[in-house]
Amino acid sequence: MPTLRLALTALLALSVGPLAGCAVQNAEPEDGEDEEQAPELDGREAEAAAVGVDCSNRRSDTGYKSGSAFAITVVDADNKPVELATASAYARMQKAAAAAGVHIRVVSGFRTMSQQKYLYNCYVTKSCNGGNLAAKPGYSNHQSGHALDLNTSSAGVGSWLAAHADEYGFKRTVPSEPWHWEYWGSTVGGSCVSTVTGGGGGGGGSTSGCYSSTLGKQVVLNTCVQSRADSKWYQCIAGGKWEIRWDVPAKCVSEHPL
Ligand SMILES: [Zn+2]
Repeated sequence: MPTLRLALTALLALSVGPLAGCAVQNAEPEDGEDEEQAPELDGREAEAAAVGVDCSNRRSDTGYKSGSAFAITVVDADNKPVELATASAYARMQKAAAAAGVHIRVVSGFRTMSQQKYLYNCYVTKSCNGGNLAAKPGYSNHQSGHALDLNTSSAGVGSWLAAHADEYGFKRTVPSEPWHWEYWGSTVGGSCVSTVTGGGGGGGGSTSGCYSSTLGKQVVLNTCVQSRADSKWYQCIAGGKWEIRWDVPAKCVSEHPL
């Protein structure tokens, strides 16, 4: 019975929403009922699902390229720190592999300077980490955010990657390390958005804008951005969410094409 009512409600929302032009998008599901995996109408969810990146733990860290420090954006993939653009591409690849029954996991992603120093010392002294090759601190692509060590010893992973990784912008770059893959695709930012904590609550404001990963900054309400991740247009709506641009009745206050 509750399921039927939910289904009816959903149908109603679907048919009325676009006509009404200003859909009530943030209606909360009724308490305590089984939530099924219904299709999401919310732009942020659609976007996150398309890319599959969990940005709830997005943070800034210090990356290194050719020995020089720069600010790098890191999120979590498989509970490992991974640079945002690499994580976006990885999420797509992981999803495609899973659909083929192959389960790829990140073993090592972004590394801090102190972690790279440790591993480099292991390589030099051969006293830890199996004495594996490690680049000089400041020069590893694990520090520039491009490199991921993947679970290539698991069934099917190595051969799947060999056949498909290039479709997602990943290449093998170290002949002696079948697990080491680097992302050098064209996507330079993911399309996750900041998670709005609290969700709902007493009202007031909620016009604080959204975080755009494509632009790498906070933008105001009704800013329209073409996402680097999927080239689609999104518009910032109330509650820090992104909606498919054409589904939002309000005009864009500014447009940011790729
Ligand atoms: Zn590696």
